[in-house]
Amino acid sequence: MPLQSRDDPDPTADEAFLARFARSEESSELTEWYSPIPEGYEKGRTKYVVVVGTVMSGLGKGIFSSSLAKLIQDKGLSIAPVKMEGYLNIDSGTLNPYRHGEVFVLDDGLETDMDLGTYERILDQNLTRRNYMTAGQVYTEVLERERRGGYLGRDVQMIPHVTGAVKMKLRELAVAGTGDGRPADVVFVEVGGTAGDYENGFYIEALRELAFEEGPGSTCFVALTYILEPSILGEQKSKAAQLGIKRLMEAGVQPHIVACRAKNPVSRTVGEKISMFSNVPMKRIFSMHDRESIYTIPDAMREGALDREILSILELHDRVDQSHEDRARVRWKEFSGRLASNRPRSATLGITGKYAALRDAYASIDKAVEHCGIHLGAEIDIRWLDTTDIATSRDAEAALEGVDAVLVPGGFGTRGVEGKIRCVEHARIRGLPYLGICLGFQVAVIEYARNVLGLADAHSTEFDPDTPHPVISELPEQKRLEGIMGGTMRLGGHDVDLSAGSFASHLYGGATRIRERFRHRYEVDPSFIETLESSGLTFSGRHPNQPIMQVLELPASIHPCFLGAQFHPELTSRPLAPQPLFMGLLAAALAERHPGEDLGPEAARWLRTPTPATNGQ
Ligand code: GLN
Repeated sequence: MPLQSRDDPDPTADEAFLARFARSEESSELTEWYSPIPEGYEKGRTKYVVVVGTVMSGLGKGIFSSSLAKLIQDKGLSIAPVKMEGYLNIDSGTLNPYRHGEVFVLDDGLETDMDLGTYERILDQNLTRRNYMTAGQVYTEVLERERRGGYLGRDVQMIPHVTGAVKMKLRELAVAGTGDGRPADVVFVEVGGTAGDYENGFYIEALRELAFEEGPGSTCFVALTYILEPSILGEQKSKAAQLGIKRLMEAGVQPHIVACRAKNPVSRTVGEKISMFSNVPMKRIFSMHDRESIYTIPDAMREGALDREILSILELHDRVDQSHEDRARVRWKEFSGRLASNRPRSATLGITGKYAALRDAYASIDKAVEHCGIHLGAEIDIRWLDTTDIATSRDAEAALEGVDAVLVPGGFGTRGVEGKIRCVEHARIRGLPYLGICLGFQVAVIEYARNVLGLADAHSTEFDPDTPHPVISELPEQKRLEGIMGGTMRLGGHDVDLSAGSFASHLYGGATRIRERFRHRYEVDPSFIETLESSGLTFSGRHPNQPIMQVLELPASIHPCFLGAQFHPELTSRPLAPQPLFMGLLAAALAERHPGEDLGPEAARWLRTPTPATNGQ
């Protein structure tokens, strides 16, 4: 998004842009203060919970915040979460997933970071670009406005203008709520980094101002801190936590609640010290020690009455819907109870992943597999496969030895592509369950073209621009039809039509129209569709009115489970609603590992019954 010059080419956009701030303008002329309030904002209606990290990052702030948000949501209150990032990037599209974790794509097409995925999964709620803020976005907005003369001749400053823009965005989120037309009951703010970091200081200042302006009972600050337990001492030490919380207090923020991350349950002595030095009563100091599963965190928080303390601080008790909470608790208990139950069956899923050791780059896939394993009552072991050294069918066979299903995830760049194609070949010929995602969908098409159609040099123009058989190619004219400029990626949620009676439709409960999220530039070249289909590959998922292929499968007579999706199914898997294509893949993996066994009713739902061969392959 380039900064605008004074002779802005789009005056209507200019007007709309300035109108957003119109109400605040009169007041900013008269006073030194500047705190714009959006249209429709009702003070006191929306409350704010703010989670700030201290001591260090990497404590699972996202999991903590989303679990806490879930507890409040369970009570029937609407939650609008927001992650505030200190970095200058506008979105996460340009971040390296091996440094920063995967790029998580929202339904509205925004490329965000993996924490937004955590919120969507735990809250079982779709988020939008309003739920993700970066310093880059905030500064760009302020600088653009300055170029448009939006500050009426004033010098533009971090305080009040940048902090004013942050408060404006938070209040806009409060008005927008979850998008159902009602304002949010609670805006749940997670501040990236830790208190004292240079780059998030303006966020903390904006939140301090917001809490002051909204008044008592409006904002609850939660400090997430860390209790050290050095092995040489063998006891917990609270000093780092005290100093960390002090950084927050120096910024003018008095936490209402302190949550202590620790390896073991936090001792009373340590709790008392933290209480004493941070002015937070003991009943509001919580031990957030390591647990076997993140899914037990909400229940643990509830047992400690963390949710009740928040309701008291925010004076929200009278908005609680008790029966909603009871139902939500039963559903969650049913899910989390399966974690503890004995899982008699297991299967190994091979995932081809570049730099496979860095699991954060595949966080959503990891989670989708976990959700499905829990629902299927099975242990699913993931084996990460580096495909750079797989050159022949024999190599693929050796690499996939002992693997019950294969997943080729999304990816960019040539590295390991030939090895992935070999893995698909092995899975297809041996009847090993296969799911190809995005790039994995594309390599399945390439493999089929090469080995079944006999087009030996078939490829994607992404990897071989001069291939004589570009079965996967970039099609700018199609992108233009969808209103997307050539060269950019097709991003976000789009409808997919599924053929009635297909395996894909069966997995989606018989649905013939679904919505999934995309992030790709290349797709099946339409000139090859007919040839591919006439030789047995079925495109069972398509764009509703353009020749864009979105799901592929092989018939039951040929393969028990061979699926490809141009979209990213992993982005929509939720603990309480596991993703159908993953369920299909993993149920088939269990059938592969435990042939002839009764896998139970849950797995049976996702398996396909073999039909007699209709095709002589
Ligand atoms: N590189 C491929 C494309 O751009 C696949 C992208 C992906 O797997 N996310 O179409």
